[in-house]
Amino acid sequence: MQSIDTINSSVANALNSPEIKANITNTVTLVTCGLTLFYAMYFWFFLEKPTATLINLLFVVSYSFTFLFTYKHFKKTAKIWFFSVFILHIVILTTQVFSSSVGFHYFLLILPSGVFLLFDENEQVERILIFFLGLIAFFICDSYENFNPLVTLPAELERAVFVISILIVMLENFFVMFVFSLDISRHQAELKEMATKDVLTGINNRRTFMLVGDELIAHAKRYNKQLSLILFDIDFFKKINDKHGHLVGDEALKEVAQVLKNNIRASDIIARYGGEEFVVLLPETDINAAKILADSLREQVASIIIPLQSNHQNSQIDLRCTISGGISCCSINADSLQALVKQADIALYQAKDAGRNCTVSHHLVK
Ligand code: GH3
Ligand code: MG
Ligand code: MG
Repeated sequence: MQSIDTINSSVANALNSPEIKANITNTVTLVTCGLTLFYAMYFWFFLEKPTATLINLLFVVSYSFTFLFTYKHFKKTAKIWFFSVFILHIVILTTQVFSSSVGFHYFLLILPSGVFLLFDENEQVERILIFFLGLIAFFICDSYENFNPLVTLPAELERAVFVISILIVMLENFFVMFVFSLDISRHQAELKEMATKDVLTGINNRRTFMLVGDELIAHAKRYNKQLSLILFDIDFFKKINDKHGHLVGDEALKEVAQVLKNNIRASDIIARYGGEEFVVLLPETDINAAKILADSLREQVASIIIPLQSNHQNSQIDLRCTISGGISCCSINADSLQALVKQADIALYQAKDAGRNCTVSHHLVK
């Protein structure tokens, strides 16, 4: 599952890279050359039509210039060249080699999605121009009646060419839609990540905490369950910033966030509440259990050593930091999330007053 996601995401990422787009252009050119060569061989060996064979061989040579342009890094020229040769090829095949009844011009239906796949967002003019060129070519082909074509196919073969054209168009459309849908999914996931997570630490942001917190409070009220909250604040964090620089401060924040996150249950919710403040919501947990967990988390944080490069002293430092915690619980009066936070904040102040690196718990009482 993980590997499918990785592949999907790299296909979607590929769309945004000009290099990969150039590779797709080359692949499409290669496939078109192959098909054209196949038709050339067919005309030569089975139908014995040298002129039709020559026309197709000339188009194989023309398509090949796309590779040259991509190789020389004229990526936009390569794409314009490919589509122009393609449109001309279809027009010549439909009006000179066959007659329009063969339906070769239905190949032009790949253009609307094809231009979106190969051209970039900043190449809208090229997209529109090629699309309209294809549209005009389609109507020229459709209205042109060649009474003396180079190749006259038997009815069943005509039908086969028509079906193959439609099949290729459908496959191309499916591929383009598939790639674009992956791109949309990736962007949606990115937006969700940005809206719900804290950029620095990667844990939930305050907005997520508020949303989830309100839901948990409602649930606790409805089913008369206990809900505890711990508000942690790093001790003397300003000193860490002042002494070692803000980048070291950032690293310490990330480390503390990870320690807290790694030592709570999956059902508990952790978020960055403010600058160096973290909040942990503990569903179905009473104040005593919350206090035990808070002290355990506090000890874990105090025990870690963060090896860092100090900005100011330009040397290796082993940073230690401690946290203080305020705990509240809403088993008796589940008023609101604000009330729970306020109570935990009061408790946190008391922990700071008591000398820091400790926790204080407050039960909300009516
Ligand atoms: P106390 O023990 O009383 O909590 O002291 P303190 O120094 O931790 O408290 P104070 O609130 O005075 O300092 C908090 C500091 O956190 C101030 C601010 O510059 C810093 N801070 C807030 N957000 C960030 C951040 O994202 N990165 C860094 N490096 N520092 C931050
Ligand atoms: Mg602090
Ligand atoms: Mg603070």
